[in-house]
Amino acid sequence: MRIDLHTHSAASDGTDTPGDLVRAAKAAGLDVVGLTDHDAMSGWDAAARVADEVGITLVPGLEISTSLRHRGVHLLAYLPDPTHPPLVAALDRILTGRTERTPAIVDALRDHGIDITEDDVRREAGGSVAAGRPHVADALVRLGVSSDRTQAFTDLLNPGRPGYANRYAAPLEDMIPLVTDAGGVAVIAHPWGRSGASVLDLESLSHLRDLGLAGIEVDHQDHSSADRAELRGIARDLDLIITGSSDHHGLGKVDHDLGVNTTDPEQYERLVSHASSRA
Ligand SMILES: [Zn+2]
Ligand SMILES: [Zn+2]
Repeated sequence: MRIDLHTHSAASDGTDTPGDLVRAAKAAGLDVVGLTDHDAMSGWDAAARVADEVGITLVPGLEISTSLRHRGVHLLAYLPDPTHPPLVAALDRILTGRTERTPAIVDALRDHGIDITEDDVRREAGGSVAAGRPHVADALVRLGVSSDRTQAFTDLLNPGRPGYANRYAAPLEDMIPLVTDAGGVAVIAHPWGRSGASVLDLESLSHLRDLGLAGIEVDHQDHSSADRAELRGIARDLDLIITGSSDHHGLGKVDHDLGVNTTDPEQYERLVSHASSRA
C-alpha cells in the first residue's frame, strides 16, 4: 500500500486542479493521497468525486500557516470537520492576512523609492483570488526593476530585504488544540525544513504533544537522512505518528514527485483511528 499524505492543488499553490491531482496520484500508483492545500479546504469536494471515480482513497486535509516564537511552522490538519466554526474563522483570518500583505509590500517598496502600485500587482494576479508575492515579483519584472522572479525575491522580497512584509499566521499553540477540537489530526509538516529546526527541538515537540500534537512529518525532501533518523527517534520517544510525503505542487516545485516519500501503512492506520476515535 502506497500512501502520500501531503500534496497541493491549484486551490492553493499547486498547478493541477484537485481532480487532476487525484488522477495523477492514481497514475503514480498511490493507494492513498492526502490533499493539503495551504489554509484552504476548497479542493476537497472535487478531489473526493474523482477519488471515487478512479478508486483511490482521499484523505482531506490542509496545511495551516502558523507561527511559534516568530518562526513560521506549517501544521498539517487531517480529517477535521470543515464546518467547525473556530476552524473556519481561523482560516478566514489567515486568508485575509495574505490579501492584506500585498498593500504592505507595495508601501515598503515605494518607501524604498520604487514606483510600483497595487494596480500593477493586480494586473499580474489576473484571476487569482489572492494576489501574493509572486505577483509582486512579476510586476517588478514588468516594470524593469528586476530581471526575473528569482532576482525580485533575492533583492527585494525575501525576509530582511526592503520589500518584505510579515503576514498573520495563527499561533501554533492555539491551532493544535483547535484542529483537535475539530476532530482532526494535527501533524507538523517538515519540522526541520527551512526555518523550523531551531524552534522545534525535543523539548518543544514534547510540549506540543501535550497540547494535542499527534504526529510529525519525517520523510520529506527538505530533511537530510540524518535529520530523518533523528526525527524518527524523537517521534518514537514521544509516541508521535510518523508520516512521509511528497509535498507535491504539480509543476510548481521540482523534486517533489508524487510518492517520492510515503507513509508506512501502520502509521497511516494510527492517523485514521486517531481521527475517528474522536468523531
Ligand atoms: Zn509546507
Ligand atoms: Zn506543503
